[in-house]
Amino acid sequence: MTQVASLVDSHGRVLRDLRVSITDRCNFRCLYCLPETEAAQNFYRGRWANLPHSEPIARKWQPKSKILSFEEIERSVRLAVSLGIQKVRLTGGEPLLRQNVDELVARIARIPGITDLAMTTNGFLFLEKGRALRDAGLRRISFSLDSLDRANFQKMTGRDALAEVLASIKLAQELGMNPVKVNAVVIRGINDHEIEALADYAREHDLAMRFIEFMPLDSARAWLKELVMPGKEILQRLQARHALSPAPRRNPSETAQRWVFPDGRGELGLISPVSEPFCGHCNRLRLTADGKLRTCLFSVVEHDLRSRLRNGASDEDLAAYLQSVVLQKEDRHHIGEPDFVSPERSMSCIGG
Ligand code: SAM
Ligand code: SF4
Repeated sequence: MTQVASLVDSHGRVLRDLRVSITDRCNFRCLYCLPETEAAQNFYRGRWANLPHSEPIARKWQPKSKILSFEEIERSVRLAVSLGIQKVRLTGGEPLLRQNVDELVARIARIPGITDLAMTTNGFLFLEKGRALRDAGLRRISFSLDSLDRANFQKMTGRDALAEVLASIKLAQELGMNPVKVNAVVIRGINDHEIEALADYAREHDLAMRFIEFMPLDSARAWLKELVMPGKEILQRLQARHALSPAPRRNPSETAQRWVFPDGRGELGLISPVSEPFCGHCNRLRLTADGKLRTCLFSVVEHDLRSRLRNGASDEDLAAYLQSVVLQKEDRHHIGEPDFVSPERSMSCIGG
């Protein structure tokens, strides 16, 4: 079936990928996202000394009344798919905290036209919910795993939960959700010494590992350029140990530069939005848990779909609204430039 392409922005990019945050709540406190733990604060305080930094964002969970219901999410996704969206990823906050999340997955899995339905999770609750999610139609999953060292994992996430996350990854493989993806945000001075160990783990367990650059989206506004490990540096370190070959790009909007090991087991990917922005090929649209459309991770404006969903807008009205929002998609982000303005909400609210 040829898919319509009516979500086209003013720079000619065709949007195919929708990220849906289904809750802003989280059971972890990652140092790069919700750095509220003492360990996180100590880490940044030492590096901040004498540096100007912006005011932290006060975290406040949204009241339930503002969070989109399953019906509202399903309707929004259905409309987006009718306008050419093909890939849908459920995220958060922590998506597995949403009650009856498998029911939501089943509703979305039934929408014709979706070629790829995936989820990003910290994995803590996957042991409990994984089988039901797979049975509901979830075929692909990405886990966040920034450290293989129990103490460092706890420092980075605020939870002593390495064993649970490793067991969840194993379960996802047993459930056939292959290739299972694993995301590590690499921060200089905290987990950059674990890059090689994470790569070895990916190879040993045949996982698709993604190393992600730290972006200025943390709630403490603690991000510093000096803390970013550029993808190129990560790659050099990995190439010093392994004869990696580049994997061909699957499509121009792919965010990861992928590399494979000589024996074909496991895969490494570098996602470098800070040092090598890929905005020119970005085909993503985001819907937050409280029903706001975002055209970029770094948008400083949000578009209120929720009020339209709740005020009796017809499908035609909503489709026209989606198209008008997409036309406002920013050409690129401005990280590291003097005019960069942080978004008002952190990654946990936006949905990564
Ligand atoms: N809670 C789930 C999780 O952690 O996988 C899903 C939501 S989380 C916001 C989605 C992804 O964003 C995770 O892979 C996380 O590592 C990444 N992330 C969060 N804050 C980030 C930041 N400041 N820079 C880069 N990636 C970030
Ligand atoms: Fe929670 Fe995910 Fe943010 Fe970590 S990255 S605090 S798990 S939303």
